[in-house]
Amino acid sequence: MSMPTPSTLTRLRRRTLPILLGPPILAFLPAVSLGAFWLWGETALVLTSLGLPLLFAFVGAFDERARTLSTPRDAVTGLLLRDGFESALDRAYAETTRSGLRSACFVLELDDYRELEERHGQGAADLVALQTGERIGAALRGSDIVARIGDSRFAVCLTPVRQLDLELCIQLAGRMQSAVEDPIPLDAGTIYMTCSVGICLRSRAPGSDAAAWVAAAGEALSDAQANGPSAIRVYSQDTHRRTRARSDLREEAAAALENGQIQPWYQPQISTDTGKITGFEALARWQHPVHGMLPTATFLPALEEAGLMERLGEVVLYNALTALKAWDSAGVDVPRVGVNFSPDELRNPSLVDRIRWELDRFDLTPDRLSIEILETVMGTDPDETIARNIAGLARLGCRIDLDDFGTGQASLASIKRFAVSRIKIDRSFVMKADRDPEQQNLIAAILTMAERLDLETLAEGVETVGEHAMLAQLGCDHVQGFGIGRPMPFDHTLDWIAAHRAKLQDAPRIGKEIG
Ligand code: C2E
Ligand code: CA
Ligand code: CA
Repeated sequence: MSMPTPSTLTRLRRRTLPILLGPPILAFLPAVSLGAFWLWGETALVLTSLGLPLLFAFVGAFDERARTLSTPRDAVTGLLLRDGFESALDRAYAETTRSGLRSACFVLELDDYRELEERHGQGAADLVALQTGERIGAALRGSDIVARIGDSRFAVCLTPVRQLDLELCIQLAGRMQSAVEDPIPLDAGTIYMTCSVGICLRSRAPGSDAAAWVAAAGEALSDAQANGPSAIRVYSQDTHRRTRARSDLREEAAAALENGQIQPWYQPQISTDTGKITGFEALARWQHPVHGMLPTATFLPALEEAGLMERLGEVVLYNALTALKAWDSAGVDVPRVGVNFSPDELRNPSLVDRIRWELDRFDLTPDRLSIEILETVMGTDPDETIARNIAGLARLGCRIDLDDFGTGQASLASIKRFAVSRIKIDRSFVMKADRDPEQQNLIAAILTMAERLDLETLAEGVETVGEHAMLAQLGCDHVQGFGIGRPMPFDHTLDWIAAHRAKLQDAPRIGKEIG
């Protein structure tokens, strides 16, 4: 007689154990023993009363796994849920305390799971979750606990063992991560996911219970995500300090947004042809009462983590339109203002209505507003809501500026489809353009393409007179950068505009005729 394969046995156990272990079966135990006694006498009584517990032991009714099998499971992956995981972790915590054995808790999260749901639908997201759970399980031993503790979040607790160190844990995390990141075939093509991992070794767990242990693994995960995508971080005292600092910054940034500490500053854009101002770009600035001006690279991620990018967009737009009205009333000619739109804002289905309403409220025509969208967001295949919003804003009459052009992969088709009015050539092409023929070739190629597609062009990050002159000579329409003017608070703009006008009248201008 051949032994059933482990997987058949496992399947059989999975199916029968929840039934065998449920309360009803316990009620039947005395009846079964008594029945056996009536039918077959004392030997049968002894056999059933001894045999049944032995049978339970054989099928694993008394082991860890059986206990977890009877707890509720995730409908999609069949994995334990948060409650079940916490109970299992409690037991591992107690066991390691008692025995001195080693263990570790891992929390893994799929990066960009929300985008996956939005772009490919719930079916695809479920499939990815299912595959992720299976792949994590396959990278571990059968006795380790795997759970799905959130839509995109999984947790692992290793069965306590004698030998386990930091290096082994990192290797294991790497193994799970690369398994999860293997391509996933989908009807329409292939999905590439990345995942971040936080690890907390039992020996490094802070506090005195399993809850603190998994929370620490979660902090390590946040740390990984802040350095991600696809990063692995191990919990330490430092992690805790960093997590605290990040959450303090998030809270402070949220408050700063509401109390007016975060406001846009304005950077001029000018025509290479006439030297005249063609617009100002609104750039968020946080003037911190204690730390002074904080860099965008610090506070924008904090606002993003706090889910406040839409709110930032509202604040910046409101101020930018107020500025336009103020320039109009002062009688200075500022044709338009550029505002950066984040992916979060662009995903809002009511965005076009909101912008229309704002423009109406300020009594400004839509062509006074340039919507700056990063080339990476427009990408090869933006999600449907984003695509609809961009097209809707263009139809409304707003200008669409493709920001950081040359760093993403916007196809020519998407540039046409979204009615982009202007490309903003990224600073990386502009740097040293006057002295580097390679740079000049690249810019010339971009300008030729733009001309064919009937797009306006603006060069970003123009720092020197030499770069400015070269861009004008190559035929770029507009320039923006420290060499023309740094971002400034609204109150300084009128003076800057007056000084610029005076300079235009006095000095020979840098124009297309140079060279
Ligand atoms: P961006 O839209 O490409 O903005 C241009 C950045 O380059 C600004 O940095 C600006 O201060 C800087 N810059 C301008 N001229 C020069 C130059 O000549 N040399 C150099 N080295 N830098 C120059 P900033 O203000 O730190 O903003 C960084 C990024 O943060 C922006 O890049 C934009 O993507 C984002 N951002 C800024 N404000 C907002 C906002 O209100 N909303 C959103 N969603 N994103 C914003
Ligand atoms: Ca921009
Ligand atoms: Ca840019």
